[in-house]
Amino acid sequence: MSEQKKVVVIGGGITGLSTAYYLQKEAKEHNLPLNVQVLEGSNRLGGMIETEKKEGFTIERGPDSLLARKPSVFRLIDEVGLTSDLVTVSTGKSYVLANEKLHEIPSGSFMGIPVQVRPFVLSSLFSPQGKLRAAGDFIKPKSKPQTDQSLGHFFRNRLGDEVVENLIEPLLSGIYSGDIDNLSLMATFPNFYQLEQKYGGIVRGLQKTVPKPPNKGTRKKPSPFRTLQNGLGSLVEAVSDSLEEGTVQLETSVTQIEKRADGYELKLHNGEVMHADSVIITTPHYAAQSMLSQYSFMDSFKDMPATSVANVAMAFDQSAIQQDINGSGFLVSRNSDYRITACTWTHKKWPHTTPDGKALLRAYVGKPSDQGAVDLSDEEIADIVLQDLNKTMNITQKPEFTVVTRWRDSRAQYTVGHKDRLKQIQADMADELPGVYLAGASYEGLGIPDCIDQGEKAVENVLDYIKS
Ligand code: FAD
Repeated sequence: MSEQKKVVVIGGGITGLSTAYYLQKEAKEHNLPLNVQVLEGSNRLGGMIETEKKEGFTIERGPDSLLARKPSVFRLIDEVGLTSDLVTVSTGKSYVLANEKLHEIPSGSFMGIPVQVRPFVLSSLFSPQGKLRAAGDFIKPKSKPQTDQSLGHFFRNRLGDEVVENLIEPLLSGIYSGDIDNLSLMATFPNFYQLEQKYGGIVRGLQKTVPKPPNKGTRKKPSPFRTLQNGLGSLVEAVSDSLEEGTVQLETSVTQIEKRADGYELKLHNGEVMHADSVIITTPHYAAQSMLSQYSFMDSFKDMPATSVANVAMAFDQSAIQQDINGSGFLVSRNSDYRITACTWTHKKWPHTTPDGKALLRAYVGKPSDQGAVDLSDEEIADIVLQDLNKTMNITQKPEFTVVTRWRDSRAQYTVGHKDRLKQIQADMADELPGVYLAGASYEGLGIPDCIDQGEKAVENVLDYIKS
């Protein structure tokens, strides 16, 4: 490759930023004449990642946790020199609110599925009948092979409704902000299907494959979550600071992508046109569909739902919380009469975020069946949160301040069949729009590490395409 090639990354969330970072790294290391441009529609970088510092508190408006077993985000953190800022969760306990009471999540489980039987048998979260039904996983034969099914259908069949509704559903809804009876097993946890098919049951399969816990007396199992001392926004800042000057254009929305003989023409919101040899679209699926609306193969993105959530951070004086609880927070079971879906006791989970003597709580509203909650006023949302929290925590004073953040249509729903539909779109795209790629939370995983993985894969694809 001798003449310069222009690669445009659309979207400046973590997917777009990591893509641009690795493209420029490759260009530097292999002396490739690449011009990388990131076009971001809003006036800030980071997309769903946003940290706010206020009165000594570090408040995450979006994500706050990085899953330790997924390496790509830690590689990126290392690349940009932030490894010494990594912080581990301070407390191991978390709870589920079910039947109006907080129940500790039984230890020895993986995504709510028991790996060790004893903590499950002793747990107050399930009735004796619920436990008996879950034990059915050991004797039920594996199900007939299926190309896909809902998470709810799969887990209800293996473990029964009670374990699903009191534990698995709150855990999975916390990740996907969706209804597990619609979400695709194969697009979210295909490994559970494979365990069932290989070992005849998921508990047995996990017991055979999950590493054994350390023996009594040996070191405690490390927590599965990490964050950054100065908030996850510091990763966005460090990655964007590492990009070459002039890489990013803020307040620049792409409205349409047109194929031309010499590459692509990107129409911008202000009427300008930009040429690209290759394009990586890291926006939500509905924005990607709108940019490529002339291609009917993108139509299935019109039917792909996305849910909204509101994240509510409340700062208190510690004395306001009469009944503080030892743990990192709680999830709310589907059958509870609560409008919040979860609450993190941030001052316990991440003590570095909160000044001494203060408390920081973070709750979510916007269940799939209560999407209207996200559109209420800040005051109404704060009232809902306080009323719900007071059912378990006895909070005697008003918050010192409240920060409400609405993430509208942010949670792409991988409904049953998602993987096949995406595969078809990617195949059609490869045929009709060579050099254009999709990456990000709407496509192949919505955790931060999954987004970075997709960015890295897109970099490989672009380099192969440009060199070909
Ligand atoms: P986005 O962050 O959505 O970025 C896409 C960007 O594209 C945006 O900046 C947008 O403005 C821009 N854009 C859109 N249209 C256009 C256009 N036409 N032209 C130009 N630009 C455009 N993940 C975790 O791993 N751990 C967590 O603890 C966690 N918690 C979460 C909590 C909340 C409240 C939310 C909302 C998400 C959470 N996630 C978590 C998920 C994770 O934050 C996101 O999936 C991830 O940050 C998405 O990154 P992205 O770059 O793919 O998309």
